[in-house]
Amino acid sequence: MLAVIKANAYGHGIVTAAEALGGADAFAVARLEEAGMLRAAGCRARIVLLQGVADAHELGKAAELDLEPFVHQTAQIELLEAWRGAHAFPVWLKIDSGMGRLGFRPAQVQAAAGRLAACGRVAGPANLVTHLAEAEQRGNALTRAQIDLFNEVTRGMPGERSIANSAGLIAWPDAQADWVRPGIMLYGISPFEDAIGADLGLKPVMTLETRVLALKELAAGDRVGYGGTFTARRAARIAIAAAGYGDGYPRSAANGTPVQVNGMPAELVGRVSMDMLAIDVSEVLQVSVGDPVQLWGPAVPVERVAASAGTIAYELTCRVSRRVRFERRP
Ligand SMILES: *Cc1c(COP(=O)(O)O)cnc(C)c1O
Repeated sequence: MLAVIKANAYGHGIVTAAEALGGADAFAVARLEEAGMLRAAGCRARIVLLQGVADAHELGKAAELDLEPFVHQTAQIELLEAWRGAHAFPVWLKIDSGMGRLGFRPAQVQAAAGRLAACGRVAGPANLVTHLAEAEQRGNALTRAQIDLFNEVTRGMPGERSIANSAGLIAWPDAQADWVRPGIMLYGISPFEDAIGADLGLKPVMTLETRVLALKELAAGDRVGYGGTFTARRAARIAIAAAGYGDGYPRSAANGTPVQVNGMPAELVGRVSMDMLAIDVSEVLQVSVGDPVQLWGPAVPVERVAASAGTIAYELTCRVSRRVRFERRP
């Protein structure tokens, strides 16, 4: 298992995540700086660099940090050919089977692999990788075609194979190959639109919490927040919670987005501001200033909040801002 902990482990804290995921066979990050943070924290595991290196300086850093770069374009092969250091790099050859982002097109794969094998700077045969564009759609025709194309292009080549992200791992058993590359599911979040983590037997890792800052009574016709996007239809009790888009809570969250106040379900009302948001707590039996508010976590699936904000959970956990205090709980 290649555990994907890029983007600060999807916002969870890269060093904490690497410690918690000690059973992984290797870690994958997107940037050299992320790998540097892991090594500085004492991580000795294998680390794969998903975007590879950009220049000779970065290749030198990759050697120093003992990283395994992806090779997705010819310029990266040229960097390896020009490498004069003693280090030989284990590399992962990225094949574009239909994602249309990084990687060699099928017709270029044999030549790229041949150059890597011949250059003498690569340790062992290149591992072979592709990335699925629509794996979260079960039975999707493009995914079927991507898996088949990858298998066809790599037939007879040495090197270990890797195809599946979280959605591929769960929904496409024949994409498991030698290495799976789960990201989002490691954090207890579903990669599928029609499911939450709990439906897949996953437990959410992140809880985003705050407190009630103030309470107020609204009369029918009163409005809440910037732009008056919520007007009370009847008398209502509103809790103002101390969190907003300055903390990474999405400003686009709509009226009715689920929240939990003092252990009871409630709904967001009005527009989210930088430091505050409003919650209709008319149905919450007991609520006082200082009570806990769960914005997402075990009681409030982050997938639901994301759907209500027109985005995906990946973006929400990545976007939690630096002023939020992180606490690791057992
Ligand atoms: C981010 C990433 C993954 C993990 O994807 P999830 O959907 O989070 O499981 C796997 N492979 C590559 C190449 C990635 O960039």
